[in-house]
Amino acid sequence: MARIAFIGLGNMGGGMAVNLVKAGHEVVAFDLADAALAKAEANGCTRAGSAAQAVADAEAVVTMLPAGKHVREVYESSVIGNAPTSAILIDCSTIDVATARGEIAKAAAGGYVMVDAPVSGGIAAAEAGTLTFMVGGSDEAFERARPILERMGKAVIHAGGPGSGQAAKICNNMLLGASMVATCETFVLARKLGLDLQTFFDIASKASGQCWSMTAYCPVPGVGPVTPADRDYEGGFAAALMLKDLRLAMEAAQSVDAYTPMGSHAEELYTRFAEALGGGGKDFSGIIKMIDDSWKSSSPS
Ligand code: NAD
Repeated sequence: MARIAFIGLGNMGGGMAVNLVKAGHEVVAFDLADAALAKAEANGCTRAGSAAQAVADAEAVVTMLPAGKHVREVYESSVIGNAPTSAILIDCSTIDVATARGEIAKAAAGGYVMVDAPVSGGIAAAEAGTLTFMVGGSDEAFERARPILERMGKAVIHAGGPGSGQAAKICNNMLLGASMVATCETFVLARKLGLDLQTFFDIASKASGQCWSMTAYCPVPGVGPVTPADRDYEGGFAAALMLKDLRLAMEAAQSVDAYTPMGSHAEELYTRFAEALGGGGKDFSGIIKMIDDSWKSSSPS
């Protein structure tokens, strides 16, 4: 049993912290939002009055925050210098590669060992403890973080040195965003060409067009397995978060001069769907309703 500080108990962090409690760890929690903190407390975490208070005496620090600026702020003002240097620092937020590398370097300068460990899997996987963690850091850092991450996920993979977890995450999600758009436009074309969509699914899922966005997450209601499409695109992975990840991918691509035309086009399409058309709260597969032009005639919530 370890004493673990957990900072950021929102949609994802709330479920993850509970899994550490269930594994027998003492979890000292902090969030700026009182409601998130109260929920964590009701689920067995100990409430701290500040992030600095949460990390004092911690053997491990886990953060699950919205974006790079929050991670920078929390580590630089509350974690570094307040947590014991013996604590392993684990940031599970999805942030830009440059900030992840910068914070790991600053932590190392302060005598700490830190990893970036973003996740694949949504709120349900966070609650069920079935996330996939992509970890960036030294071999030693990975081995120290692994036993904690294993209590919150089904797979913990060492992606490489500092920042590699974030690099793997945004590369994966750029592929996912582009393949979802391609899946959506394919099904819209198939319908317009008069194909029965379940029949087309049966064909394409056994042919060379097969991909996860179709076989596991089909954007067409009533076709393939049950997905957010069958719940009017509620739940699942919000289009706003897909847009966030595509923007991080484009920023990273620019920083290394990589040519990513499909990723760039996916970013443009998700910007239109999530922001201009107000679809940000819908599951990312809901972009099919922009592609088939039915979004305007339905009533977005
Ligand atoms: P969220 O907004 O629900 O939770 C973030 C929490 O951090 C909030 O409760 C907020 O109050 C807290 N917070 C912000 N600044 C803080 C500070 N300075 N000190 C303490 N607490 C602070 O977000 P989420 O959906 O839980 O996502 C968290 C991270 O996980 C993001 O980086 C997101 O991109 C990534 N992610 C989310 C999903 C998903 O499906 N929601 C999936 C994979 C990865």
